[in-house]
Amino acid sequence: MWRARGEDRDDRRDTAAELLDAASAAIESGRRDDAQPLLEGLLKVMRLPGVTRSDRPDPLLVTALTMLGALHLEAGRRADAKGYLVEAVGIASQPGFDRSAKEAALLRTRSQALLDACTPRGEPGVPVRERSPVSASSTGRPRRSRRSSRRWPAVLAFTAIVFFWMFATTSGQNLVAPAVVKLRFAMPALFGDGGYTFLASQDGQPVTFSSCRQLRVVINDDLRPKGAENLVEQAVAEVADDTGLEMYVAGSTDEPASLERPPVQARYGAGWAPILVVWTTPDVIPALRGSPIGRGGPQSVTDQATGRRYYATGQVFLDAPAITRLVREGRRSTVRAIVTHELGHVVGLGHVGSPFELMQKKVNGMRHFGPGDKKGLTRLGHGPCL
Ligand SMILES: [Zn+2]
Repeated sequence: MWRARGEDRDDRRDTAAELLDAASAAIESGRRDDAQPLLEGLLKVMRLPGVTRSDRPDPLLVTALTMLGALHLEAGRRADAKGYLVEAVGIASQPGFDRSAKEAALLRTRSQALLDACTPRGEPGVPVRERSPVSASSTGRPRRSRRSSRRWPAVLAFTAIVFFWMFATTSGQNLVAPAVVKLRFAMPALFGDGGYTFLASQDGQPVTFSSCRQLRVVINDDLRPKGAENLVEQAVAEVADDTGLEMYVAGSTDEPASLERPPVQARYGAGWAPILVVWTTPDVIPALRGSPIGRGGPQSVTDQATGRRYYATGQVFLDAPAITRLVREGRRSTVRAIVTHELGHVVGLGHVGSPFELMQKKVNGMRHFGPGDKKGLTRLGHGPCL
């Protein structure tokens, strides 16, 4: 089916690009079995002598390897998937891989995330930045989430793997100026719905905040790193949007971080204390020692009359020293993602295994809630009005 029509490199690359288009179209229309031989053919073309330059890591090759890895992983063929993904990540990690292109960076993130998913837990992978959520309950002890026993292939439910390519080459025969190959990915997204979990459920429904209550958030920003302004506000806005809850930053506070936080406090007047986001240190909150950069969770109460649990307030701890370093490295968007993830816990989301969701345990390149996260948040925002 595949056949390099031309003798020269550019013709063969055109053939490869056409095969990729055909494979993408097959995947989009649900014909996964057709996509695989097209991608394997593409690899054969790319591996013909002279088609892929040894000195220039090729995004087209990385894309094909990543897509094949994704297809095998989805089908539960972990070892096959790993073979392709190890090669994809290897090529994408070479110095010449176009780091300036946002799409290329995303492709590398996706191939790495898929490779991590091939690796059973406990083996070295992407460093774990954050562990289980903590509920600042009145017991004073961090409540660990149920250890996930979900296996990757069950979680990985691709709705589509879509790659659109614009492929233009400008070949110069000038020995001084090597051929310029310009690759543009219009949308190299491995797009998936990795589902969602809840921190707590009752009678088959998630425990939630009252859906008709205003959820005030207060920030203790005494230790807020320079350059981290407005990140909490942006994260709160994202959670409000995706849950539909009326959640907003009401102001600042001098309330310190504490695992024994009273849910009603004179400083806030009658009613439940607002959700607290506090910049703190691992010395104050030992749960931040080691790799976690943030911890967050809700505080639940039980209605004496009905016996039903609901969330009254919640708390997010942010590791100010660790985040200071991230901000200095220019990783503000990573910090915002961490805050957003922790607020996801505050409204009741648990972790998932999918790297295409912000609620994966690891910092994984996701900057906003993914499709599965959003479905969970919608449910959390539509609990009973209490
Ligand atoms: Zn978490």
